[in-house]
Amino acid sequence: MADSVIRALYGKSTSLNLSSRKIKYIPKCVSRLTNLSVLLLNNNSITALPGELLSLQNLAELNLGNNALKEVPAVLGHLESLKKLYLFSNQIKLVPPEVIGTDGLQNLVVLNLNHNQIQRLPPEIKSLTKLQHLNVLDNKLEEVPVELDHLTKLSELNLTSNNLAWLPQHLYQCKDLTKLHVARNWLTSLPEGIRALAKLQVLDVGGNMLSMFPVEFHLLPLKELYCEGNRFVQWEPVPSAQDVEVLTLKELAARFVLREDRNRFSLVHRMLPHYPYLTALLANCGCCALCLDPFLTTWLECVHFISLRKDMKMRSAQTVPVRARLCSYKCFNTDGHSYYGVATR
Ligand SMILES: [Zn+2]
Repeated sequence: MADSVIRALYGKSTSLNLSSRKIKYIPKCVSRLTNLSVLLLNNNSITALPGELLSLQNLAELNLGNNALKEVPAVLGHLESLKKLYLFSNQIKLVPPEVIGTDGLQNLVVLNLNHNQIQRLPPEIKSLTKLQHLNVLDNKLEEVPVELDHLTKLSELNLTSNNLAWLPQHLYQCKDLTKLHVARNWLTSLPEGIRALAKLQVLDVGGNMLSMFPVEFHLLPLKELYCEGNRFVQWEPVPSAQDVEVLTLKELAARFVLREDRNRFSLVHRMLPHYPYLTALLANCGCCALCLDPFLTTWLECVHFISLRKDMKMRSAQTVPVRARLCSYKCFNTDGHSYYGVATR
């Protein structure tokens, strides 16, 4: 190992490969290689990084994969040129907020934390505003921080094999996402509003507990969809008994206001901004898949079955259920639509 470091030192190398050398401790002299832009330390037994590495201010790529780190080393928070950081296959439990939240890692484009034991990503992750690839496959994440919505350059997010029971709607603010992997978690639904991911090409949700896809899912520009091993509602029409529906006064009033609000010349539309509480309440409104009328809370939960090949121009011959909401039985009972009520068993 010393040989390679000395050679690098004399040759003013910009890259140093010390992978697979059974290294436990990084020699401090490495910190004198201030021209280094690539440092490969993967496949060793490193448990900590010396603070002296601070001097590697030109380092753009650091591979620490397959070592014995227990947390993301503090010195990394000061390597301001770092663009690619690989920390896969360690025993990392903790991502300290002060490491990820410092200005140091703000140029990071690739962060690979695959195969560790991370339970939580700190909200400070929002500082990594240039991040394009975030890989946290095979960890113990129980939730995704809503602050992820600051990562507007993110194009690939891999959260496969974690313990996620839900995803925040904020995720859809990452509008550059082209690949989203959330396979093998405990998701029972995907948040509404998925159409905001207007560049999404690959979605992997296999091995969850989804019963259907969210509204307007079929309008995504997907090229690949992996969804085996879920609990999708089946296409088995059964006759259903229909309760007489009586809308509450609140719902009736909300529907009236929402309808009026669509007319920009109406008094309601002009006055609404002066009632922030009401505006916030009405922000959760939906719109009937059939008559397109707005509603607030009462809807009829339905699905329609989307052919990936015919409706989404994908290669797969599969058919998947996509959520749809209708405003009333009046709409449901009209002929000529393909929405099915969802039976609760
Ligand atoms: Zn309707």
